[in-house]
Amino acid sequence: MQEKIIDDKILEKMTLANVYNIFNANIFPMLNEEDIKFCKEIQKFCIELEPKVNTSEDVYEFFSELGKHGFMQRINVWKDYRPFGMKKELLLSINLSILDAELDAARFTSSVLCANALFHYFHHGGKNEKIEKIKDELMSGEKIGSLCITEPERGSDSVNMTTMCTKTDDSIIYNGKKVFTTNGPKADYFVIYGVYDKEKPRETMVQTLIPRELGVKTNRIAISSAPRIHIAQTFLEDVKVPQEFILADNGDGYKRLFEGLVPERLVISANGLGVCWGALIYGMIYTNYRRQFGKDIIKFEGVGFGLADLLSKVTAATALALQVGTIYDEKILFAEKPNKEVSKWTAGVVSQAKYHIARLSHEVCYEVQQQMGGISLTDNTPLDRYSNVSKIEEVIGGARNIQLLIIQNALSKIKKIIE
Ligand SMILES: Cc1cc2nc3c(=O)[nH]c(=O)nc-3n(C[C@H](O)[C@H](O)[C@H](O)COP(=O)(O)OP(=O)(O)OC[C@H]3O[C@@H](n4cnc5c(N)ncnc54)[C@H](O)[C@@H]3O)c2cc1C
Repeated sequence: MQEKIIDDKILEKMTLANVYNIFNANIFPMLNEEDIKFCKEIQKFCIELEPKVNTSEDVYEFFSELGKHGFMQRINVWKDYRPFGMKKELLLSINLSILDAELDAARFTSSVLCANALFHYFHHGGKNEKIEKIKDELMSGEKIGSLCITEPERGSDSVNMTTMCTKTDDSIIYNGKKVFTTNGPKADYFVIYGVYDKEKPRETMVQTLIPRELGVKTNRIAISSAPRIHIAQTFLEDVKVPQEFILADNGDGYKRLFEGLVPERLVISANGLGVCWGALIYGMIYTNYRRQFGKDIIKFEGVGFGLADLLSKVTAATALALQVGTIYDEKILFAEKPNKEVSKWTAGVVSQAKYHIARLSHEVCYEVQQQMGGISLTDNTPLDRYSNVSKIEEVIGGARNIQLLIIQNALSKIKKIIE
């Protein structure tokens, strides 16, 4: 804290433990015993980590601490860490992002956006000891991963990539440029998409794991709303990748791209929910103790009704995300044979959740800051940090209109249901 101006009596109430207590009072009735136990485990970890978190330093030093507790990722089973599944991943992300949403975003980029591609490779029957070892390195937090889809000229239109792959006898040569590579400047491994034929991206897309030492170059770009995460422009100039690093070839890369987007958008939603809950709860605490005109300001309808409106929206959004996570676990992840109808529904509803929650996180931060007044713009409370991260939520994982486009596509298919 550069200069303390907040009242001590309010500051002493604004502990992370109190924040989690309020979160739990709102959320635990929705959860089963296993979920509650898991949340408490994460919260204990976060409360212990909090004194080490310096909000002006990079987030990466905490990856190995997360890894030691199996908290890099919890969608897939890894070592003896239990419980696991999509719902658990959402709970991990919400709780961690209440502590530090930038740390959570860097974490899930490495372990969900990047490492999930390796899990998918094994789910589809891949066998490769080197990739198994890299998966362990990413899950333990010893190494850092990135995902490269977006290009300077291909953002929302990501399928029509310009990054070219050329086959040789024993390798693929990559040429192209990617941009907005989260973790890029720090990454040891990159999951990178390219195509053999720009005219036929769906039929020729390749997904490859590329270790940095094969020649991937990165330059950091400045993103002021997430200053503790390194984000890059990534250059691939005649990068020769041995066959053993190909995860999905000859158009299968296109299928894996979409397989990856569902968990990606769900976990971005969970990060956004952590931002919502963090901002809202710190706001609730402050307005319960801050007095003006002889009253706690929460008692003024202008303040209390505003927070009540936000709480009802955040509770509904949380219920939606957790329900989607539960269905994803039951009918896709843990099912003997994933249900095709549910998979289709999930792809659509995840866009609805991501669209709604990303936008809500920005609304919540902005509105809570207005309800709290000047203090929320200082470093005396974490509000402005949440607010900064909320600015990127709608862009990452596909901008607002792309989520709407996916939802609109489903709407335009209703004729099939009624004809
Ligand atoms: C902080 C940050 C981190 C990121 N991390 C990663 C990462 O790790 N890996 C990665 O691959 N990418 C990453 N991205 C990229 C992100 O996914 C893209 O920025 C996003 O998909 C949008 O692409 P774009 O920025 O090129 O915008 P554009 O595609 O140029 O879109 C600009 C505007 O046009 C609208 N638009 C575009 N097409 C349509 C359409 N058909 N209908 C209606 N409106 C449309 C968009 O909604 C948007 O409003 C990151 C971005 C940011 C900002």
